[in-house]
Amino acid sequence: MTTPAAAILGGRTRLCAVFGDPVEHSLSPAMHNAAYAALGLDCAYAAFHVTPERLRDALRAIPALGMPGVNLTVPHKQRALRMMARLSDEARLLAAVNCVVNRDGALHGDNTDARGLEADLREQRIALNGRAVLIVGAGGAAPSAVLACLRMGAGRVVICNRTVERANRLARRFARYVAGRGGGRARETIEARGLAALTDRATVASAALIVNATPMGLKSGGFAPLAYEAAPVDCLFYDMIYAREPTPFLAPALALGRRAMDGAGMLANQGELAFELFNGVAPPPGLMRRTLMERLGRL
Ligand code: NAP
Repeated sequence: MTTPAAAILGGRTRLCAVFGDPVEHSLSPAMHNAAYAALGLDCAYAAFHVTPERLRDALRAIPALGMPGVNLTVPHKQRALRMMARLSDEARLLAAVNCVVNRDGALHGDNTDARGLEADLREQRIALNGRAVLIVGAGGAAPSAVLACLRMGAGRVVICNRTVERANRLARRFARYVAGRGGGRARETIEARGLAALTDRATVASAALIVNATPMGLKSGGFAPLAYEAAPVDCLFYDMIYAREPTPFLAPALALGRRAMDGAGMLANQGELAFELFNGVAPPPGLMRRTLMERLGRL
């Protein structure tokens, strides 16, 4: 059910938003506005098309307009880092901001990508317990997958990227993070490889989880060659992309009867985390997820 804007927008309405380029496809307004309506809050959530050259101006508008906070999506997450008054430890580690919170006029940058993914994986009861994971990609979202997997106990993280040097940089960053945690814990190994690692049967055979953290398959074109049949039977294939149909990364896994899921749950979890950061109150349990799944035609 959609509440007419005129019925909810007034002189006291507090506005949150997502800034992106493009942003028209965003399902965040539907999720957040459903929660506002259910809680009877005088708030609304919009999607603003903000180009990279206008990002600084758009962020300055947040305190000027008294907005509680905004989400950032492609291509703003990295660029916004330098525009925040403060950063959470996680935003600093992931080198990206996807949540900007207005705290008394100062912009605090946070990142909920890793927490959103981790919660989704934990719901699947996937046990990493020292096993290997393959992360495909080394761009904006890949660090969150590395962090989520390390927190869940992965023993070996293999970052596979088209540009190997980029994977190397990400691996070095997380190797420092792992070394910095110290405390006598067993050291996880973090490796950088090219996409050819995905057809290396021994590497794929060791994976408890394979995550696509690239836009491969989002529009036209398929996914990179991957030795699906070499994966262990309990391996979970996880695509950060979400869509109405199985994505090109997930479809071959499903055809082999393997476990496969897309990033819709991650998005819903992040929406809930952002809602609480912006409004100081949790959304009704499950409502944002149900709203998203309805929009994706799954309910
Ligand atoms: P990004 O920074 O643009 O991703 C760049 C990465 O993708 C790089 O590793 C790049 O490799 C690789 N790549 C791009 N095109 C490729 C191609 N044709 N072949 C091989 N590799 C290619 O994007 P992102 O922010 O990381 O997001 C990745 C995906 O995750 C997006 O589809 C996004 O929508 C999704 N995502 C979903 C959620 C969620 O909540 N579900 C959250 C965040 C992101 P090179 O380094 O070689 O260029």
